[in-house]
Amino acid sequence: MKLDGNRILVTGGAGFIGSHLVDLLAEKNSVTVADNLSPDRRKTLNKKANYVNIDLLNKNPVSEAVKNVDLVVHLAANPLASLTASSEMIGNITMTYNILEAMKENNVNNMAFASSAIIYGNAPVPTKESYGPLKPNSLYAASKLACEALISAYCHTFNMKSWVFRFANVGGPRLRHGPAHDFITKLRNNPSELEVLGDGSQERCYLHVADCVDGIARVIENADSPVNIINLGAEDVITIKRIAEIVIEEMKLKAKLKFTAKEPKGWKGDVKIFQPDITLAKNLGWKPKRSSEETVRDTVRSLVLKSP
Ligand code: NAD
Repeated sequence: MKLDGNRILVTGGAGFIGSHLVDLLAEKNSVTVADNLSPDRRKTLNKKANYVNIDLLNKNPVSEAVKNVDLVVHLAANPLASLTASSEMIGNITMTYNILEAMKENNVNNMAFASSAIIYGNAPVPTKESYGPLKPNSLYAASKLACEALISAYCHTFNMKSWVFRFANVGGPRLRHGPAHDFITKLRNNPSELEVLGDGSQERCYLHVADCVDGIARVIENADSPVNIINLGAEDVITIKRIAEIVIEEMKLKAKLKFTAKEPKGWKGDVKIFQPDITLAKNLGWKPKRSSEETVRDTVRSLVLKSP
């Protein structure tokens, strides 16, 4: 689908990935953002886009927002991989269901969706899209896998087309969650010691948000199956310990690291290593420009420069 001259609805478009994607899409398309954004996020909103402040858990406003669009990019969710409230898991699924129903009612046939490579669980890495059976080990991952299933079923039953993105961790300016963010908050409370969940050897793949939104656009333009499932990630990984060291360096502190366990597991549902295989996306003409370490450093710098 050529991303030029289309009417695009971006759910969660006021969030971290969404705000960067809206900046890109609004150059050549008419973009509307559907988000129940908090007031402090308004300053990062793109002036070219329209905004509707709605709760996507409510069906009626979703149906109204989806009218007359060519493509829905659905990014809104509780994005915390460690979420433990089953209501949040159900919330992620309900939003996706409401959007699919609204698309069906309004004959909107194209959807892009933000899934996560965390749904692979403890799979061998790098993990290809064809890996299975998938056995997610967190409520967040379960919500993403359930959403993928709904999207696939709607595409096959109602002649829709979808692009499902299984992102690695995404980093860069405007990020407000994840290990780097948590480490900075902890160090602002106690500059001499930094608690690291697990033994710090957990490995994470960090995709820069600029590479991420470029990948989303490239894949939508070049992949043409009814259901396109594509990993997006960096070409390498970084350990949680190294992320902690970078945060300490960038905050110009001398804090000691304190590990909470002798195993590579920070919380129930944590995975030891997480790295999606990105061959499919590369075959579609995309390539990430930054390494995991460059992305983490850029994330930390932008967070440290911001006041607490
Ligand atoms: P974010 O929290 O910055 O953005 C999510 C946005 O969704 C927010 O602006 C929020 O206001 C909105 N939203 C949430 N619930 C809503 C509701 N009920 N009604 C209306 N708006 C609502 O998160 P992000 O990091 O930009 O993540 C975007 C998507 O990508 C999410 O689906 C997330 O699960 C997925 N993802 C993110 C990462 C990552 O590392 N950031 C990795 C894999 C997948």
